[in-house]
Amino acid sequence: MNKARALSGIQPTSGSFHLGNYLGAVRQWVALQESHDTYYCVVDLHALTAGIEPAKLAEATLASAAQLIALGIDPNKSTLFIQSHVPAHNQLGWIMECITGFGEASRMTQFKDKSAKSGSDRTVVGLFTYPMLQAADILLYQPQYVPVGEDQRQHIELTRDLAGRFNSTYKETFRIPEGYILKAGAKIFDLQEPTAKMSKSSSSTAGLIELLDSAGANTKKIKSATTDDGREVKFDEVKKPGISNLLTIHSAFSGQSISAIEADFDGKGYGDFKAAVADVVTAHLDPIRERTNELLQDKGELTRLLKIGSEKAAAVADETVRKVYDAVGLIPRG
Ligand code: ATP
Ligand code: MG
Repeated sequence: MNKARALSGIQPTSGSFHLGNYLGAVRQWVALQESHDTYYCVVDLHALTAGIEPAKLAEATLASAAQLIALGIDPNKSTLFIQSHVPAHNQLGWIMECITGFGEASRMTQFKDKSAKSGSDRTVVGLFTYPMLQAADILLYQPQYVPVGEDQRQHIELTRDLAGRFNSTYKETFRIPEGYILKAGAKIFDLQEPTAKMSKSSSSTAGLIELLDSAGANTKKIKSATTDDGREVKFDEVKKPGISNLLTIHSAFSGQSISAIEADFDGKGYGDFKAAVADVVTAHLDPIRERTNELLQDKGELTRLLKIGSEKAAAVADETVRKVYDAVGLIPRG
């Protein structure tokens, strides 16, 4: 029997992934490889919307692929590729833009959040049309599941709407994909601002736990995480967002339930708890950082693996574009 397909992507907007990327998304990607036909891509075209410097983008793209492998994505099990290596993404992206309403696109909260941060003069049109390119990224591969963090829920809904609209306007072409969003760890918050999500493109990295940062730097950040004035280590997202976020992170790495961790720290202060969180986090990240650095020593081999992935991806994506072009009335070159 054919395995169900899953697809997802991650932006190379920074040299390092953060804990939210890992716990909200990549950890699920690794697990799905065993049971699904998995496609994972580094979405470098999306990173251009963040105005990233050319040398940094190139470096971050390879570092992203290396981190995915270090985190457990096996290029023999998954199709691992770079978005810009498969031109079909741009081809279908345009078609998606042509069936999306302006008002519909204007309602995307991620656009509102990101553009509010940089101001309208510095916000590019690409950031506005990003969810349509993302819909194309997904629909090209006809996946059943899209494993992402909670922050992507609205974009997945848009993708489903666009797929349904295309199918009914033109011709049954796309499978309607489902988001695959886990409850535990689906949203990790910024350590300094525990009501905002941890994000690669944050203006400050003080609240980010970056996978490739040193154990010392990450320990320091965890120890200076914003918490409330109380003393109790208790999960309460409204009154104690900082402590709740640290409990989520501890639990995700240690495998202990939140209530077991609360019981362990009963009567102890925040200092002891933060030190314990730092220990579990750094113990897990040390080998990942080392493996990523090893992989980055051999760029030739990484590039070779990515080429194999992009060829496999392009074969599937080109077939979808052919069907889409035919459905909308674009004639073949002959
Ligand atoms: P950017 O700020 O550049 O958008 P990002 O940190 O949001 O970067 P993405 O590359 O956009 O990262 O997203 C990759 C995956 O990580 C997505 O599935 C997204 O849902 C997930 N993700 C991102 N931030 C978090 C978070 N704070 N908690 C849980 N999952 C997250
Ligand atoms: Mg994002």
